[in-house]
Amino acid sequence: MVPTGVVLSPDNFAVVTSEHLDNIETHLSDSLRLEHHLALPISVRSEDTDIIVVKELVPNPCPICRHPLKFLRELIDRFEKENTNLIRCPLGHHYSGTMKIYHLNIFQQSERAELENNLSECPACRSKKIQYLSPSDMFCLDCDWDSGMVARYRT
Ligand SMILES: [Zn+2]
Ligand SMILES: [Zn+2]
Repeated sequence: MVPTGVVLSPDNFAVVTSEHLDNIETHLSDSLRLEHHLALPISVRSEDTDIIVVKELVPNPCPICRHPLKFLRELIDRFEKENTNLIRCPLGHHYSGTMKIYHLNIFQQSERAELENNLSECPACRSKKIQYLSPSDMFCLDCDWDSGMVARYRT
């Protein structure tokens, strides 16, 4: 799973900008500086906002050789551009798959947030590499586990 972008409302863009950026004079715009800070493309608009967009390709690992996909960001880019439903594994197998897209609400605090916020170990594989996307949305970088994130739509 890879975060691929952030969508903010104009109000929250202002909030996030003031929280994360210092006031150093610069020739770069706030949105460019924030993109730099978060290492993700930012869009500001007034509908369907305050989300982080996360994408993943399934199945992963490769159903033929069981190797996990590498360079996911590039694979996802290519998958979207080529529109063929074919995924290429590190060993060169081509298999048909789908892309799942998640829209995670960044600012929403859910009731289970406090409970799961303390999670530092993957419940499935015991890896310590848990990636948090929001207080209640997280996934494991080492296996397929996630906190029950629901895909908005599939392509
Ligand atoms: Zn393979
Ligand atoms: Zn895991």
